[in-house]
Amino acid sequence: MLSPLYSESVIADRVREIAERMNADFKNADIVHVIVTLNGSFMFAADLVRQLRFPIVMHFAGATSYTGVERKQLRINAEALPPSFGNKPVILIEDIVDTGNTIGALRQMIAERFASEIKVAALLRRQSGGGKADYYGFTVPAGLFVVGYGLDLDGRYRELRDIKTVGVTTSTAGDARNLC
Ligand code: 5GP
Ligand code: MG
Repeated sequence: MLSPLYSESVIADRVREIAERMNADFKNADIVHVIVTLNGSFMFAADLVRQLRFPIVMHFAGATSYTGVERKQLRINAEALPPSFGNKPVILIEDIVDTGNTIGALRQMIAERFASEIKVAALLRRQSGGGKADYYGFTVPAGLFVVGYGLDLDGRYRELRDIKTVGVTTSTAGDARNLC
């Protein structure tokens, strides 16, 4: 059963705020590399980058850690990343940061490839998950698995325009809405 958590318009407002902060932070940058973690971040990234007003080069890196709602071993496919970022800044776009393992592993790979700085933009971060982001949209309560707006459950629900929780009551989800 799916229950609503963050609506399309609430998400759009947060994505706009993140884009405006980035536009201020990188207003003098000549080029910034943007890395999108696939698959879950595709929709967030598409909405975010269309609002950026500084020059970017985009890259995509596959990262998988879940089967269904169960965590499995983290696998990262970074073959599409360039061997060097040429001492330019890198923004890493992630759908949800939980333990931070995924962005931690990617951070290391990026640092080894000569990035001048690394910033993480996560649409969601999990409360008490331990992972950190420089820009984030919402804090998801510890026990909730979320889908929609790019996030999946075994490949399903990525196409949803809003974010929903799997298998929780609406009242729990209602509380979560105040947690951003
Ligand atoms: P971390 O490596 O930070 O522990 O976990 C982050 C990754 O796990 C995310 O990139 C995402 O792919 C997956 N993940 C964590 N929580 C959820 C969730 O609630 N829903 C979905 N669909 N994926 C999640
Ligand atoms: Mg992910």
